[in-house]
Amino acid sequence: MTSPPDPRSLDLDALRSRLLSERGGTVDDSIPQLADADPDLCALALALPDGTVRTSAQADVPFSVQSAVKPFLFALALVDTDGEALDLVGIEPTGEAFDAIKLESGTGRPPNPMVNAGALLTASLVEGDGPEERSARIARGLSAFAGRDLLVDEQVAHNEHLLGDRNHALAHLMRAEGALQPSADDAVAVYARACATLVDAETLAVMGATLALGGVNPRTGERVVSARVARDVVSVMATCGVYDGSGRWMRAVGVPAKSSVSGAIVLSAPGRLGAAVVSPPLDDQGTSVRGRRASEMLSDDLQLHSFSV
Ligand code: GLN
Repeated sequence: MTSPPDPRSLDLDALRSRLLSERGGTVDDSIPQLADADPDLCALALALPDGTVRTSAQADVPFSVQSAVKPFLFALALVDTDGEALDLVGIEPTGEAFDAIKLESGTGRPPNPMVNAGALLTASLVEGDGPEERSARIARGLSAFAGRDLLVDEQVAHNEHLLGDRNHALAHLMRAEGALQPSADDAVAVYARACATLVDAETLAVMGATLALGGVNPRTGERVVSARVARDVVSVMATCGVYDGSGRWMRAVGVPAKSSVSGAIVLSAPGRLGAAVVSPPLDDQGTSVRGRRASEMLSDDLQLHSFSV
């Protein structure tokens, strides 16, 4: 068997130039800060097991992480509940939009941690006496995944809390089902702050690598979560990470990933690398159009597809 291509040999700026010529998709307009995103922002980064990170141009441009935070919230909830989070949130794909107002039939649990209902719950399972402490613990946890101190875009956090009507509805529904402990407003506030965390492609690739490499941050050497937690999270990224586009994603890209409305995608290729791509225009499932294309190209060029032999 020949060994897979060396990620160091890939010209990420050449790949980026090819992507820039691709048009299509629309930028999310749920809050003004997202609507104002530059549609031509386009960046890629690869974080490797030896701690090096390969980047294209613009890999240091900050953006709010949005739903790409969900795998990390799930990881922190698993740690802080000693695995009990697995009983409190489902792990089945929904085939529905990320913000569908729907819980698992029969149990009243959120269907999985990668849709909004699930992430509202996992964020609320992170340890902390009240919303401020919980948000502080989330910020520390996300920073450990990133290997640097992450900041929150306060405007984004404020607007998402204020304008996230569907998230408020989901939180109330979960309260009514007895699934959510904190008040609906506190749950939305904590989740909104997590979504408003500022990252860049380089940072997000390191976060993805930490999950891909069994829970150890390749840059800092710190064990952030156990190998078991990392495996559980990456498994659910594989089945649910791209919402109602997860099946199509798995066939075409074959790498566990999480999409987000800021146009970022975080990828975790087990044992191989973490990657991040960002470009704000989205398709109908809320996946970055160029990000999807970039992920297909990375998967092909580096032979990352989980099921290709
Ligand atoms: N903050 C967004 C929301 O909850 C995140 C959604 C996403 O990135 N898909 O609506």
